[in-house]
Amino acid sequence: MTIEVVLLGTGNPLPDPNRAGAATLVRAGGRTLLFDAGRAVCMRLAAAGVLPLMLDAVLCTHLHSDHICDLNDVVTTHWVMSGQPSALRVYGPPGTRAVVDGLLAMLAPDVRYRLAHHADLTWEPVVEVHELEPGVVLDDNGVRVVAAASDHRPVEPTLAYRVEHEGRAVVLAGDTVPCPGLDELCAGADVYVQTMLRDDLVQLVPVQRFKDTIDYHSTVEQAAQTASRGGVRTLVLTHQVPTPPPGAADEWIAIARRHFAGEIVFGEDLARLEC
Ligand SMILES: [Zn+2]
Ligand SMILES: [Zn+2]
Repeated sequence: MTIEVVLLGTGNPLPDPNRAGAATLVRAGGRTLLFDAGRAVCMRLAAAGVLPLMLDAVLCTHLHSDHICDLNDVVTTHWVMSGQPSALRVYGPPGTRAVVDGLLAMLAPDVRYRLAHHADLTWEPVVEVHELEPGVVLDDNGVRVVAAASDHRPVEPTLAYRVEHEGRAVVLAGDTVPCPGLDELCAGADVYVQTMLRDDLVQLVPVQRFKDTIDYHSTVEQAAQTASRGGVRTLVLTHQVPTPPPGAADEWIAIARRHFAGEIVFGEDLARLEC
């Protein structure tokens, strides 16, 4: 095994008893990277055997709430379990610093209570924020992370990531329609994890706010076409919209199959892949 991927949360923004919010764990070369920090991310990390203190970095694809709503839990848990001051490294598009500043302001009462209560806890949470531009954003112990601009307009800027290690590559696309940056990252990748929706089903829901989501996400077809153009080995469908009923996987996979001949994985929480 060169790179390990664990789907921590495969849900969409609507609460679901079986699917946590957007988050994916990638382990390679002794490094532990978290991509996005949606609902219940710390519970799912624990299930994957990872505590926030073990994270080398959190990388955000964008600042939509369903991708960052439990980042505060990562920050707090990282802090309260630390034996000495240690920084949580958070990477994301421009705007990430303001979000983290706001999150730390929200946590101020909690920080005050814990500092007052624990004699051995004498430091506040330390969060090291890196606002990213496309390019190589991390190169550590043979693990390289490349970011590219994705297209989730009017949400911008947004990023997709590619993790490379020992000749293998995994792409974490986040929310995006097909675009040149995504194609660049996907070229020759082993695993491509794409958030997506079924536009045919979303169209049937008589709620305009729901239909609005169609124009800034990849459909299943588009995800499969991106996978095919890039010649990727495995396409992982995640962040399914609308929430699929049990047993729906085959139908979604069949739609993707019309456009992509490689392996197709219908994402479930805590599914694990290796390449
Ligand atoms: Zn989004
Ligand atoms: Zn999303």
